[in-house]
Amino acid sequence: MVTDSQNLIISVNPAFTEITGFLPEEVIGKRPNIFQSGKHSYSFYKTMWASLAKTGRWCGEIWNKRKNGEVHPSWMSINTIRIDGNISNYVAVYNDISQRKQADDYIYKLAHYDTLTGLPNRLLFYDRLQVALSHASRHQLVLALMFIDLDQFKRINDTLGHSVGDELLVSVAKRIQETIRKSDTVARLGGDEFVVILTDTTVAAATQIAEKLITTLASVHHLRHHHVVSTPSIGIAFYPDDGEDAETLTKNADAAMYWAKESGRNGFKLYSKELTQSSQQRMHLEAELRMALEHSQFELVYQPKFAVSSKTITGVEALLRWQHPEHGLISPEYFLNLAEETGLIIAIGSWALKTACVQAKQWHDLGFDIKVAVNISAKQLHAPGFVESIQQALHDTQLSAYALELEFPESLFINNDFDSLSRILTNLKKLGIAIAVDDFGTSYSCLSYLKRLPLDMLKIDKSFVKGLATDTEDQAIIQAILTLAQALNLKTVAEGVETHEQAMFLLDKQCSDMQGYWLSMPVSAEKLQWLIWTGKGA
Ligand code: C2E
Ligand code: CA
Ligand code: CA
Repeated sequence: MVTDSQNLIISVNPAFTEITGFLPEEVIGKRPNIFQSGKHSYSFYKTMWASLAKTGRWCGEIWNKRKNGEVHPSWMSINTIRIDGNISNYVAVYNDISQRKQADDYIYKLAHYDTLTGLPNRLLFYDRLQVALSHASRHQLVLALMFIDLDQFKRINDTLGHSVGDELLVSVAKRIQETIRKSDTVARLGGDEFVVILTDTTVAAATQIAEKLITTLASVHHLRHHHVVSTPSIGIAFYPDDGEDAETLTKNADAAMYWAKESGRNGFKLYSKELTQSSQQRMHLEAELRMALEHSQFELVYQPKFAVSSKTITGVEALLRWQHPEHGLISPEYFLNLAEETGLIIAIGSWALKTACVQAKQWHDLGFDIKVAVNISAKQLHAPGFVESIQQALHDTQLSAYALELEFPESLFINNDFDSLSRILTNLKKLGIAIAVDDFGTSYSCLSYLKRLPLDMLKIDKSFVKGLATDTEDQAIIQAILTLAQALNLKTVAEGVETHEQAMFLLDKQCSDMQGYWLSMPVSAEKLQWLIWTGKGA
């Protein structure tokens, strides 16, 4: 496009018509301001003219309007032509860069937004957090950083499939966005992890939002083919109290979220200094647990199981104890969770199994016909080569497989890959090992696994036994479990029998075996031997 010294258009080429839609006769004699898009301020044009006057040139990105009204970006360079020092013409050359611009936008979106939910991703989140932090620091405002993680999302993904998982994430993203202000940022960091930046807030306000988020997120998500419930765990850290930079704040919000998970999920926690202390304690405990294995600080105690019919000890359960050099005897409840989380349970569990087998072999050599039960946790069962390790222990100790029983917590039968579980149990069964379902009745489960897996025994959880004397509901539950077990030809052990009344009820209802403090506490191997010898055992 060429204009004269007065900036009136005198000529345009065919490419101009192609880009703008204007024919030469429609523009010649007019000013280029007919293309103005309204997207630039007065000062933009002022700078442009100043540059032309000073250097004779201008180039840059400019948004113009086409004949059909469409606004588009172009890259324009303008040169001033002078003859004898006087301006004679301006020549403008420009390229339509709409497509490049679109591609740029697309690439920006890909790099900064999560494609599934359309939320900012980790990269953009850090950008926004940095900006929000410097804003908060300049204006002395409080900022809250919230980590949101869905409880047991993996379970939903595994059982209902990834497309359902994806739908859930989209629904969750939408609900979070609806709960917070437009000016606050929600981002998805990946997986089922979301993060919210609340700018200019207070502890009270952030707490209120966390409560609201928990209520909305925990209500049923109506997806295309499923109605899914998924509760969140939320951790919150505040600027400036819990951290002044993005990294510290993120780390602390994350730690608070883990704390919320540990405290039973579906809740939120505010970061506190004690939290760091407790995470340090955990690290300390983990190191001590590793040492405990090396320094043989673990031992097993044995709690007998009595057969109701013969009134003799028919089996014992091996229970783990930690003889701590300073703190004395520590019960497994204190360290098993951590052992499970860190995977240490595999080494500890295999030690327990081996030790129990050695002990059982000694008893059998003495002529005691009792089964020794060993507790197995989820991590152990899923460790590669689990069945082989059991076989190896039997082989090394020369114990007959019929003397061994394994107790698997009921929770392990739920939401697990059923085929692989069934394969493992069938292989154990083939060896001759008895299989018990521990803590039966405590996990909300589909009972069909009872007939599909090769089981021998249900251990009725002590929480039901506890209320037996007074609570008619507990009585009904135990009655139902006993009927179910009889129909499926499974033995039943009631655990945690502490009183005469409880024992009488179970006797009356024909529960096959009993275990609990009323009969015997868990005792050392020597003490157990004594119990059997003095006539209480086989
Ligand atoms: P569990 O398998 O349900 O074991 C029964 C727990 O109840 C034991 O606690 C036992 O001491 C306790 N108990 C027995 N009789 C009574 C009673 O009459 N009243 C009450 N209130 N409690 C009674 P313990 O020894 O502290 O073990 C806790 C849990 O730790 C066990 O629960 C088991 O899940 C786990 N555990 C123990 N040893 C091992 C092990 O070697 N490997 C694995 N993976 N887990 C183990
Ligand atoms: Ca047990
Ligand atoms: Ca139990």
